[in-house]
Amino acid sequence: MTNIVNYDSENKFTGRISSFQSMGTVDGPGIRNVVFLQGCPLRCIYCHNPETWGKNGGREITEEELLNKIFRYEKYIKKNGGVTVSGGEPLMQAQFVTSLFKKLKSNDYHTAIDTSGIGNLKEAEELMLYCDLIICDLKFTNNADFKRYCAGNLDTVLEFLHLSEKMRKKLWIRQVIVPGVNDSEEQVKKLKEIACRHSNLEKIELLPFRKLCVDKYKEMGIEFKAENIEECGNDRLRLLQSIVNVK
Ligand code: SF4
Repeated sequence: MTNIVNYDSENKFTGRISSFQSMGTVDGPGIRNVVFLQGCPLRCIYCHNPETWGKNGGREITEEELLNKIFRYEKYIKKNGGVTVSGGEPLMQAQFVTSLFKKLKSNDYHTAIDTSGIGNLKEAEELMLYCDLIICDLKFTNNADFKRYCAGNLDTVLEFLHLSEKMRKKLWIRQVIVPGVNDSEEQVKKLKEIACRHSNLEKIELLPFRKLCVDKYKEMGIEFKAENIEECGNDRLRLLQSIVNVK
């Protein structure tokens, strides 16, 4: 197990996490620890993790505790996998993630963030210095839908993507396909067109809208605005994915 020789005990960052997944296989290459941070500025109607929205929820964790948790899985994740910080929105705690990634990089871990691209660009730039892969969920390809379905702004995400290219960071772009909302061939071609403007793009992944989160919303006493929308079928997803494949 790695001894935290590179940990600067004077630098006591704390963050808020929602959960920790020890063996994730879908959020970046290989087997990964996935840290779900607390707090998100968006309100996507199809969100699976509404418990991560509030910035004061989850639990506080010190950087040292989180690093020790990660180092416990070293033999499973270090060789071909790594650590992905997801959310919520990792850019809401960018300084915490930057500090965490600094330590992970000095211990030879592969690092990734899974982000909506909405956040402070200056802080994002600092974070990217220590990040190997950016997974950006480009939720909608026009401002009207972005605002209507996620309460966010596409232009901010485009600036973030541009920054990732400038910083020469590997980029994966994702989108959740919601029937009747963004599941037309025209929509995914637009997604591909925007994604392919970036020379650092490695792949585009489409994810199906699912409703496994209905009970969570009920327990939390909040409305699931996508309750009456059908789930995305596998055949439809395969067809749309074949359109956006870049290699
Ligand atoms: S960005 Fe992610 S966590 Fe935030 S509301 Fe959208 S789906 Fe949920």
